[in-house]
Amino acid sequence: MTAKPQTRIFSHGYDPQRSEGAAVPPVFRTSTFIFKTAAEGKRAFEIAYGLDCAKAGESPALIYTRVNNPNSEILEDKVVVWDGAEAAALFSSGMGAISSTCLAFLKPGDTLLFSDPVYGGTEFFFRRVLPQFNIRTIPFPAGTPREELERMVKNDPTVKVIYIESPANPTMMLSDIRGAAEIAGRYSREDHRILTVVDNTFMGPIFSKPLALGADVILYSATKFLGGHSDLVAGVAMGSAALVGQIKVMRTILGSNSDPDTAWLIQRSLGTLQLRMEQQQASARRIVDFLLTHPKVQSVAYPGSPAMGEAQTALWRDQCTGTGSLIAFCVKGGEAEAFRVLDAVEHMKLAVSLGGIESLIEHPSSMTHSDMTPAEKAQAGITDNMIRMSVGLEDPQDLIADLAQALGA
Ligand SMILES: *Cc1c(COP(=O)(O)O)cnc(C)c1O
Repeated sequence: MTAKPQTRIFSHGYDPQRSEGAAVPPVFRTSTFIFKTAAEGKRAFEIAYGLDCAKAGESPALIYTRVNNPNSEILEDKVVVWDGAEAAALFSSGMGAISSTCLAFLKPGDTLLFSDPVYGGTEFFFRRVLPQFNIRTIPFPAGTPREELERMVKNDPTVKVIYIESPANPTMMLSDIRGAAEIAGRYSREDHRILTVVDNTFMGPIFSKPLALGADVILYSATKFLGGHSDLVAGVAMGSAALVGQIKVMRTILGSNSDPDTAWLIQRSLGTLQLRMEQQQASARRIVDFLLTHPKVQSVAYPGSPAMGEAQTALWRDQCTGTGSLIAFCVKGGEAEAFRVLDAVEHMKLAVSLGGIESLIEHPSSMTHSDMTPAEKAQAGITDNMIRMSVGLEDPQDLIADLAQALGA
């Protein structure tokens, strides 16, 4: 009898007998671990540095909290229940997960293709940091047809990673994950496997499961829905045990690991993850309906909405089981009109970040995506009249009333 993730999350990945019977995991606030024997220590290092793989049933000794820690491992074992990943790695931030994963698989001369736009920090890392190491990064517009992406991969034997953020932040455009994974498989060579890496922060793990669509690695900013309370910063990478093993070696060397207290907070948040995401989505749908009919709203971007066009709706039906709780909408006018709304809201908080229990609202062009040039913004569809909203757990009627008065301002 296989239980649903919402049931398994409460027992999966934690054995109370290893912690004095404690019903919930204690915090293992320690920097280092004592080996029983020298041979045990030697074996633990062989596995941690990727010199050998753990055998079935073998559980290597813990070494040092930059390498591993019971709280990180409990979280890593639990957090995979929705995506069905073989393994996960916890990081100090979403950016830690993204940068460490890219550095684990890319070397000078390689090319990374990325859906455009992506999260502002990711954008900076791709456009300004990776090229310093002679790694080429080439954007393709989110929602690019499969044939066009195939042409890019076919004509360039240096492509090593296809990186997708879907839905894209902040335009909510979906990209064809299934198509990218098929293309990666088709043009991989024995000594050059092309990996499909997907940032699943916006919809996952409840409404989007890219591993099931063929992606190799999925990434999360755990700061957002996984943590869910705007009180921590963390990231997660997931995939096969072999790929996550490589990522963990890079994490150990870069020091982008998280800490026991943060890992503990995230595992505590996972029990309510599905409930939070479903309720936030239900409220978001009511807000979208309100915005679509408001005379001062020019357009609304929301996954699954017919307003996104035929191709996007088809992708949504194939790849998502929900619509999520992120909304981007454009007011009539420009930055001044958008700012008037942002300054007038009372229940929603004017702040970047998303996925928490309180509603947050922000201006992508001047805030989260301000490091992009005007040309890059235009290419990605980030306009000065665009507002991004993350719907929280407040009463949806109060949120609608708040938006109504702010749009009236
Ligand atoms: C926030 C975010 C990130 C970066 O995560 P941090 O935890 O802030 O480092 C990456 N991708 C997406 C889609 C995000 O929303």
